[in-house]
Amino acid sequence: MAKLLLKNGRVIDPASGLDRIADVLIEGSVVTGVGSNLEAPGAERFDAGGLVVAPGFIDMHVHLREPGFEHAETIETGARAAAAGGFTSICPMPNSAPVNDNATVTSYIIERAERFACVNVFPIGAITKGSAGEEMAAIGSMKNAGAVAISDDGRPVMNARVMRRAMEFARAFGLPVIDHCEDLHLSAGGDMHEGFESVRLGLRGIPGVSEDVAVARDILLAELTGARFHVAHISSRNSVAMVAFARSRGLPVSAEATPHHLALADSMIPPYDSNFKMRPPLRSAADVESVRRGVADGTIEVVATDHAPHPGSEKMQEFEKCPFGVIGLETALAVALETLVHSGRIGVPRMVELFTTGPARVLGLDRGRLAPGCHADVTIFDPERNWTYDVNRSFSKSRNTPFDGRTFRGGPVATIVNGRFIWRADRT
Ligand SMILES: [Zn+2]
Ligand SMILES: [Zn+2]
Repeated sequence: MAKLLLKNGRVIDPASGLDRIADVLIEGSVVTGVGSNLEAPGAERFDAGGLVVAPGFIDMHVHLREPGFEHAETIETGARAAAAGGFTSICPMPNSAPVNDNATVTSYIIERAERFACVNVFPIGAITKGSAGEEMAAIGSMKNAGAVAISDDGRPVMNARVMRRAMEFARAFGLPVIDHCEDLHLSAGGDMHEGFESVRLGLRGIPGVSEDVAVARDILLAELTGARFHVAHISSRNSVAMVAFARSRGLPVSAEATPHHLALADSMIPPYDSNFKMRPPLRSAADVESVRRGVADGTIEVVATDHAPHPGSEKMQEFEKCPFGVIGLETALAVALETLVHSGRIGVPRMVELFTTGPARVLGLDRGRLAPGCHADVTIFDPERNWTYDVNRSFSKSRNTPFDGRTFRGGPVATIVNGRFIWRADRT
């Protein structure tokens, strides 16, 4: 059995409260030891001195574009980008073609991932058939096939009665409901956050309230049904306040923030640069501050990328015409370090939670821990290393990022899945 010994890293395991210099021994695909001065004859050794050794990071919100849009991304290329970003598990949203609204598509994604993906892939099923917002999808059979949550991300369920039914089903099946909270009537036609900047640029606005009313509705429905409700890509001040309120009442409500909503405000958009167009849009500086505060005070317990690849032929058009979304797997850890840790808001262990125990808890996944007996999924990163992101070297098939050319302090160094290195940084 292959052995791997990670020497002298700062080992952080939020689940057990561990944070100290230690060695980690992996045998086969299982962690078998965490401690001082471990030795294992014949083991491959990795010097983790000066590096953080953490449980494998989980990104619970990505778009892999397969099946249906393989020109933008495939399960294989998306997984490679994930590995290069330090992620060992990713959860693709169901808006492929066909939509992942039944067990056949769920099984197809899992089979393709087993053959082609270097990371673990846990698919998210649709809430409604075709994500059309009307009839329930085959939720029970998708769960049996391996779906870990349900969502109509990108095409939010507008009918409150349908969402209520979905939450009742989800509760019965023990699945969380992840909603892209947006009232499409309020946001219709918008391209960027509604405010001073949209007026200045002459672009149509997506008001913060289009998110807020959907979050409010879903919190009330979660209270009514007892379902677990997770807010995808939270971005507005009032949404953060409402999630905090719901959690203070003990409701099973959680939220994720994306790196771009933590790092960027609408005033930072280079005029008409389509690489800064996404849904929800980059909001005001006050909203960004609320999201950062929500992470720091525990209201938001997950960072997820909403990695949304689009080929240049579609993305490089006028701001009003191009599709919404940015890629984010390779820059997420660096952006989190910059906006949360180096800014002094939280420590490294808490940041690790946002990528590990946070998403594992929301999804009920047996991942995100680093202790004897656990899956040998490990993320090794350097909180200090300076590096510059060059999107032309990305493993993703797409290039739509707002962070091209940005120099970061800290980033991933190596990624281990099932006891094997699947990616290592070129540290020259
Ligand atoms: Zn979304
Ligand atoms: Zn999404």
